[in-house]
Amino acid sequence: MIDKILIANRGEIALRILRACRELDIKTVAAHSEADRDLKHVRLADESVCIGPASSVDSYLNIPAVISAAEVTDAVAIHPGYGFLSENADFAERVEECGFIFIGPRPETIRMMGDKVAAIKAMKEAGVPCVPGSDGPLGTDEKTNIEIAQRIGYPIIIKAAGGGGGRGMRVVHSEAALLNAIAMTKAEAGAAFNNDVVYMEKYLDNPRHIEIQVLSDEHGKAVHLGERDCSMQRRHQKVIEEAPAPGITEEMRKRIGERCARACEDIGYRGVGTFEFLYQDGEFYFIEMNTRVQVEHPVTEMVTGIDIVKEQIRIASGEGLGVQQSDVIMRGHAIECRINAEDPNNFMPSPGTITAYHTPGGPGIRVDSHIYDGYTVPPYYDSMIAKLITYGDSRQAAMARMRIALSELVIEGIKTNTALHQELLRDAAFAAGGTNIHYLEKKLAEKEA
Ligand code: ADP
Repeated sequence: MIDKILIANRGEIALRILRACRELDIKTVAAHSEADRDLKHVRLADESVCIGPASSVDSYLNIPAVISAAEVTDAVAIHPGYGFLSENADFAERVEECGFIFIGPRPETIRMMGDKVAAIKAMKEAGVPCVPGSDGPLGTDEKTNIEIAQRIGYPIIIKAAGGGGGRGMRVVHSEAALLNAIAMTKAEAGAAFNNDVVYMEKYLDNPRHIEIQVLSDEHGKAVHLGERDCSMQRRHQKVIEEAPAPGITEEMRKRIGERCARACEDIGYRGVGTFEFLYQDGEFYFIEMNTRVQVEHPVTEMVTGIDIVKEQIRIASGEGLGVQQSDVIMRGHAIECRINAEDPNNFMPSPGTITAYHTPGGPGIRVDSHIYDGYTVPPYYDSMIAKLITYGDSRQAAMARMRIALSELVIEGIKTNTALHQELLRDAAFAAGGTNIHYLEKKLAEKEA
């Protein structure tokens, strides 16, 4: 087993990783920026190293600084968390070249999944259902591109192979707009991602976002941990997630979950990962794979009882999976609300000092957060400050507990989106389950009007 891990991240996920390390009796090093000396995990870690100034480019994204921190502290492995360097194949490669264990997939896998055209090709070959599309990059021949769009049928979406974070996409409703849209997306993608490859997909007009969590070891064995529904989104950012997804039957879960696990075995996937799908009219359509632990992993932990971060570390140590597919049983329901330091009216970040903090508690309540009374939320990073997770025997019970938890949560001194969550937990469509990915934005637009 690995005996010392450098945590190359911040906030709640750094603390989550630290807790998993402590349970596994692994020593920890917190690599932090100058602005993050007071983070909870920095105080709790066995050692800490400042890796640079507040700006992430100079600290959490600074590859030589992170690797030097591992060298000076004799860490054996580096955990990248999510965001920052977690899906950077060059980083993973450097980590391994320098003799450390990268807690994540092999660099080649990260590189392939970072190129959506390559990822879709590999997934299609592995039998994972994909969105009908161009099956590869679009060329420059206008006639061919018009024919591809006709074959798929409008509306279609042009997407950048190197895109991410909801950028580099354009929906096209008719042939008249097609060629111009391709040219514009290509130009933007070249400038933004340094990769002007674009491809075409059928545009789904009423999809839900449903994803499958997988664990896959180095010895060719993979299992899936069922699905999560993350359809409640604003600007492609997830706001509420839940497991299981309303309306997904055991049989559907088994079918799509097993496909994903088999695909991991086929491509020699190592680590934890998530297959993201759009789900519409009873069909799953693969859109991308996240090769890291995700923000919303706790809802799956709550319903399966499996500690995903501990499994991730075990896999990185070269151990075989501790669980068989038949050991994975989903029981009950879990919901997660992402609490952000932001103005509830205009969603602008609201950094500052927390003057009072009271966390909810009681049966079925979990709070994953790094904040504390007197902590100052810095303005430099993502605005998520806490994840409130509730569990119950049924979806209704988990929702009831979430309402109570939200009412008990007190965060003063900064603005948060707690009121938005309270509103959504009272929303009739959300209560019914199965709202699509456009629901929240539509609701907010109606409120505005
Ligand atoms: P990113 O890496 O930027 O997150 P994704 O491929 O995951 O890109 O797509 C992001 C979002 O864009 C999806 O969650 C969905 O809202 C929308 N989207 C992507 N592809 C399609 C499609 N074929 N039809 C409808 N919406 C899509």
